[in-house]
Amino acid sequence: MSFLPFTRPSIDEATIQGVAEVLRSGWITSGPKVKEFEAALSAYFGGRPVRAFSSGTATLEVALQLCGIGPGDEVITTPMSWVATANVILHVGAKPVFVDIDPTTRNIDLDRIEAAITSATRAIIPVDLAGLPVDRDRLYAIAAKHHLRVIEDAAQSMGASWHGQHIGSFGDLISFSFHANKNMTTSEGGCLVLNDEAQIPLTEKLRLQGVVRAPDGTMDVDVAGGKANLTDIAACIGLGQLPHIDGFTTKRRELVRHYFACFDRSLECQLPLENFSDSNWHMFQILLPLEKLALSRGEFIEQMRQREIGVGVHYPAMHLFTLYRNLGFREGDFPHAEKVGRETVTLPLFPDMSLQDVERVCSAVQQIIGSARK
Ligand SMILES: *Cc1c(COP(=O)(O)O)cnc(C)c1O
Repeated sequence: MSFLPFTRPSIDEATIQGVAEVLRSGWITSGPKVKEFEAALSAYFGGRPVRAFSSGTATLEVALQLCGIGPGDEVITTPMSWVATANVILHVGAKPVFVDIDPTTRNIDLDRIEAAITSATRAIIPVDLAGLPVDRDRLYAIAAKHHLRVIEDAAQSMGASWHGQHIGSFGDLISFSFHANKNMTTSEGGCLVLNDEAQIPLTEKLRLQGVVRAPDGTMDVDVAGGKANLTDIAACIGLGQLPHIDGFTTKRRELVRHYFACFDRSLECQLPLENFSDSNWHMFQILLPLEKLALSRGEFIEQMRQREIGVGVHYPAMHLFTLYRNLGFREGDFPHAEKVGRETVTLPLFPDMSLQDVERVCSAVQQIIGSARK
C-alpha cells in the first residue's frame, strides 16, 4: 500500500510542458505569463482588478498597507488560522485583537466582534478556515456599521462561494494564497483582489520596491515597497491550475460526501459542518474526543502513519505561541479556539484521491479510536 498524504497538488502534463517552455524562453521572472495570469484571475473574479504576488502572506501585508494601517491601529482577527494571518498585523506595526471562534463553523464568531471594537479598530481580517466561508452578509454589515475595512484572508477559499458568487468576486480586499497545499497552486504565490482600479499603482509599488517606470525609460521611487513579485514560472503553473479549480472543488465535495457516509459516528469525533453549497473543502478536519481516549493526538497521528496515512494539524491556536504570549495572551482567553487547537486533525483530502482511499482512512480511524476508548 502506498503512502496517502493529507494533501497533494494535481498538476497536469500540459502545465509541466508549459513550465519547461518558460524555462527555455530566457525570461523566467515576472513577465508576460504574470500579466496573462492576472487577466485570467480577474476574469474568474468577475472582472475585478487583481495583482499576483509571491505569497499569500505578502498579499495580506500589502492589503494592510493599502488601508494605511500601522502603529496605534487595531485589527480584529481569529486565533484559529495559519500564523501568517496575525504575523502580518505585527509586521505593519499594528495590534492583533483576537476574537474567539464559533465552535460549529470554527471561523471567527461574528456575534463577538462588536464587543472587541474600540476607537483604534481599523479593520477585520476574517479567515475561511478549511474553505468554509465566513457569513459575508453579516460580516460586511458589521464592517459598514463601524466604518471598518475588511481584508478577507481567503487563502483557503479559492473556488468557494457565497450565495452562488465566487469568494473574491465581491467585497473589500480579498487575499488568496497559491501555496502548494492550497486548492489551487503556483508552488508559492498569491493574489490580491482590489475593489478600485485607482489602487493598482500603489499596489504595484508596494509589490516591488516602490518602482515606477516612465515611458522614457527612467524610473522613480516614492514608497519603500517590498519584494513580492510572482515569477513567470509560477504564473505558468497558475494558468494551468485555474481552469481546473471548479472541477477540483466538485471532486473534493464528492470525496467529503463519502467521508460523511463512511465515518463511524459512534466514535464521537466532531465532524466538520456539512456544507455542500459554499465550502471548497480545502480540508476535512475532525476533532478527536481526547478526553475519552487513552491516546494522545501525537499517538493517533503516529498510528495513522504506521498505516501509511498522513495526518496534519491545522492549527494550534495562535495566541498560545510564545510571540503572542509575550504580547499578553493567555490560555483560557479563547476557549473554543483552544479546544480546536488541541483536538483537530486534518485527514487526507485532495482531488486525485479515490473513494477507496476515503474508506481506507475511515477504517483506520475506526480501528485506532475504537481500541483506544477508556
Ligand atoms: C496559507 C495561508 C496563508 C499564507 O499564505 P502563503 O502563501 O503561505 O504566504 C495565510 N492565511 C491562511 C489562512 C493560510 O491558510
